[in-house]
Amino acid sequence: MPEKSLYEMAVEQFNRAVKYTDVEPDLAEILRRPKRVLVVEFPVKMDDGHIEVFTGYRVQHNIARGPAKGGIRYHPDTNLDEVKALAFWMTWKTAVMNLPFGGGKGGVKVDPKKLSKSELERLSRRYFSEIQIMIGPHNDIPAPDVNTNADVMAWFMDTYSMNVGYTALGVVTGKPVDLGGSEGREEATGRGVKVCAGLAMETLGIDPKKATVAVQGFGNVGQFAALLIAKELGSKVVAVSDSKGGVYNPSGFDVEELIKYKHEEGTVATYPKGERITNEELLELDVDVLVPAALENAIHKGNAERIKAKAVVEGANGPTTNEADEILYKRGVLVVPDILANAGGVTVSYFEWVQDLQAFFWDIDQIRNALEKMMKKAFTDVMKIKEKHNIDMRTAAYILAIERVAYATKKRGIYP
Ligand code: GLU
Repeated sequence: MPEKSLYEMAVEQFNRAVKYTDVEPDLAEILRRPKRVLVVEFPVKMDDGHIEVFTGYRVQHNIARGPAKGGIRYHPDTNLDEVKALAFWMTWKTAVMNLPFGGGKGGVKVDPKKLSKSELERLSRRYFSEIQIMIGPHNDIPAPDVNTNADVMAWFMDTYSMNVGYTALGVVTGKPVDLGGSEGREEATGRGVKVCAGLAMETLGIDPKKATVAVQGFGNVGQFAALLIAKELGSKVVAVSDSKGGVYNPSGFDVEELIKYKHEEGTVATYPKGERITNEELLELDVDVLVPAALENAIHKGNAERIKAKAVVEGANGPTTNEADEILYKRGVLVVPDILANAGGVTVSYFEWVQDLQAFFWDIDQIRNALEKMMKKAFTDVMKIKEKHNIDMRTAAYILAIERVAYATKKRGIYP
C-alpha cells in the first residue's frame, strides 16, 4: 500500500535535496508547484454504439528551461495526483540530462486492454484534441508511457496536424521511425537503464559478466533493459515478471526468446523454462542488480529490508517509496534513481524532436553513441555530488536538477 500520495512523496524528495542548495524558500515554492493542470472529461463512441465518458489529464509542471516534455499513460488507476507527480519528475529528469525542456505528463483513466483497436483510436484522437490547447512543438511535446506506443503517437500527431491544417512532426515523440520517429527511440529507455546498470556495477566493483539481474515489468522498458544488459554487458538475467507474474531461472534466460514468448502469449509468467514466481518474490531474489521497471511503489517499507540486490536501477518512475529509499540507503544498496536511470527515453525523444524540427535524420549509431555519452556524463555528474555531500544518488540527482531549473528561473526573472 502506498504510504502517502505520490505527489507528496515526490515533493518530499525535492525538500530533502533543496536544503543542500542555496535556492531561497520563495524560489523553492515556485519549483514545487505545477504550472498548469488540465482535466478533461470526454465522450467516446464505443463499437456497440453506446457512449462512454473518460477522464484525461495533462500537467505542465515547469517550463523554465524549455517546452514541457513527458509521456502519456493509459491506465485504470491513473489520477491527477499521479500525473502531477510524474510531471514533477519529468522536470528534474530533463534537467539532470541537461535537455532544453521542462516537465509534463498526461494520462487517461482507462484499461486499454479492454478496448478494440478502433475504440482506442477514437479515444486517443478525442483526448488529444481535448488537450490540444496546451500542446504544440514549442510548448508541450508528449511521448509514450505505460500502455501507449508508436501507433498511439501516430494518431496523436495526425490529430494535431488535422486540427492545425499542416503536418507537425515535432508535436509528439516516440512516433514510428518512418513517420518522423527516431532510430533507437524504442530501445532508448532500456539502453539508458543498461548504461546505468553497467556504471552501478563498476562503482560497486561487480564484474558484469558474473552478475545476476532481475527485471520487474516486461513492457517496453523491461524488455529492452533485460535484452541489452544480457547482450551488451554479458550479465545473466535470471528473473523477469509482468502484471500476471514472473519466472525465475538461476542459469539465466535467453532474453530474445523471452521477448518472443511475451509477444505471442501476452505474458512471461507461463514461460516454461523456469520456475513460476510472484512479483513480490522477484523483488527479493538474491541477485546483484534489481531493475524495477513496472509501476510506482514496488519497493516499500514492507519489503525494503528483504531486498538482496546490491544495486537497484529504477526503470520505472517512482518504484521506491521514500521510506524504502532510506532503508536501502542505510543497508548500503546503491539506488540509481528514476530521474537518471530511465532518462534514456526522453533523451532520444529530444533527439527525435531536434530531427523533426530540422527535417534531417540521424543513423542508429549516431543516436546510440550520443545517448550513451549523455547518460554516462549525467551519471558521473550525479556521482560527484553524491560524494561531495556523502548522500544517496536520488538526492544528488535532485540537487543537480534543482540548481539548473533554479538558475533558469532566476535569470529569467519574475514576470511582470
Ligand atoms: N514516458 C517517458 C518517461 O517517463 C518518456 C518521456 C518522453 O520521451 O518525453 O521518461
